[in-house]
Amino acid sequence: MLGLMQDWPLTVDRLLDHAAAWHGAREIVSRDAQGLVTRSSYAQVHADAKRVSNALARAGIRLGDRVATLGWNGARHLAAWYGIAGMGAVCHTLNPRLFPEQLAYIAGEAEDRVLIADPACAALIPALLASVPSIELVVFLCDRAGLPAADFEAIAFDDWIAGESADFQWGDFDERTACGLCYTSGTTGNPKGVLYAHRSNYLHALMALQRDALALSARDTALLVVPMYHANAWGVVYAAPAAGAKLVLPGQNLDGASLYELIESEGVTYAGGVPTVWQALLQHVQTTGARFTTLERATIGGSACPESIIRAFRDYGVDVIQGWGMTETSPLATISVPTAEVAAMDEDAQIAHKLKQGRALCGIELKLTDDDGNRLPHDGRTPGRLKVKGATVASGYYAGAGGNVLDSEGFFDTGDVSTIDARGYVQITDRAKDIVKSGGEWISSIDIENIVVGHPKAQYAAVIGVTHPKWDERPILLVQLKDGEASDGSEFLTWLDGKVAKWWVPDDVLIVDEIPLGPTGKVDKKILRTRLEGYSLP
Ligand code: ADP
Repeated sequence: MLGLMQDWPLTVDRLLDHAAAWHGAREIVSRDAQGLVTRSSYAQVHADAKRVSNALARAGIRLGDRVATLGWNGARHLAAWYGIAGMGAVCHTLNPRLFPEQLAYIAGEAEDRVLIADPACAALIPALLASVPSIELVVFLCDRAGLPAADFEAIAFDDWIAGESADFQWGDFDERTACGLCYTSGTTGNPKGVLYAHRSNYLHALMALQRDALALSARDTALLVVPMYHANAWGVVYAAPAAGAKLVLPGQNLDGASLYELIESEGVTYAGGVPTVWQALLQHVQTTGARFTTLERATIGGSACPESIIRAFRDYGVDVIQGWGMTETSPLATISVPTAEVAAMDEDAQIAHKLKQGRALCGIELKLTDDDGNRLPHDGRTPGRLKVKGATVASGYYAGAGGNVLDSEGFFDTGDVSTIDARGYVQITDRAKDIVKSGGEWISSIDIENIVVGHPKAQYAAVIGVTHPKWDERPILLVQLKDGEASDGSEFLTWLDGKVAKWWVPDDVLIVDEIPLGPTGKVDKKILRTRLEGYSLP
């Protein structure tokens, strides 16, 4: 027997409808690359998003067509997201930090028909147009005065939507309709497209809103540091309107000084981003002696959060909450908030739990297996492959890339190696491909890196496994020093002494000018490995 409740498709346009109806005046603040701050509201973005839908319909875009966006976080970009998805087209977020060949590959596979781009990304477009014939229209996210000089035809967003009606019938399609397309950045091979559904994004927004997740409320001011092209913007783009949180969209300048200024001037209470962003922000407040007067909590994820960041922010009165997930999981899957039992522990034990990636959100099933798929114990010691299942987890990739990605029980293999402890806390040991296999045992590069960045001289650190005749692989440590520091490297080994097992201590330390950050702000080990070609252990 079926229930007798209404059939109300879970489509994301309803989230913005709700925000416009009940939090219409709530502000959406954007800052552009020049630092100019503009103010909009949910009501305004809602109206503009409807105009976008009309403009797209006029351009011949229909249900299921892909419309690409290439840009930083801002109110026009937000209106484009909802305008695209609301009419049933697929919002394909392109990452401007990717190499032009990767962008061409991705836009080509997706057969994007319209490209809505930031003027700051104009230089990337001629190559895209040359190799992706499906793109029929280019719209720049600006007014007419902001149009960049270009030798291709393009229209300013404000002109494009100016004559359009703010009335458009959104939704009215199956809630499983594709809503967004986001490619993994290809740190593990060719980029693959994750095709979100309206239903999965809607459910993810509700999951993210839980008190023990992002806990956004109508009283929050949320700074979306995570770029909208990265893993569904962590779902904040859907969760914030659902809650009526004020949204601050910082554009392209994500350096410590710019973020700090925005946090203080807008009264930001919540922010989310990858650890390297928080490291830069921390360095800014530490060197300038500034304080946070409104910031209460920060979600850090995308790569492991070093203890030094958690402790330093705590001293500034900011609670750091680590989350784990991936593009394929929408992305939030686990979050490290204390259970009642952990909350009763002393502070050091609580911080030890914050260092773990946390417990499964409601709606996510987890399992830990060996390479043959046998389940492993949740003893906090045994590492295994972490696998996930749920309504917000990918069942395959766009255009069938990668083939079947689910095991016989329907679980998706995350490619991460982790432990799970008796309290259910997942701890990521490494990405499977980054783990250092020494003498048949595993060394966690993450653990070593986290300890090293706690050293006062270290800005970023990376541990890489290099081939060894006897042990198969041995770890070496690469360190980028903070500005003005000098070191021959040996002090980092002394620093590790007693903090990790002796056989984990790297065989060599290289002080490098730069640890490269990939397109999503994470340390890019692929580039580091290329740079290390020809290196041999001392
Ligand atoms: P990519 O990094 O390839 O661009 P994603 O953004 O989807 O793609 O990255 C997902 C991966 O990032 C996870 O599989 C995991 O390896 C890593 N990751 C995410 N959050 C954390 C975290 N809190 N701690 C450690 N690793 C994390």
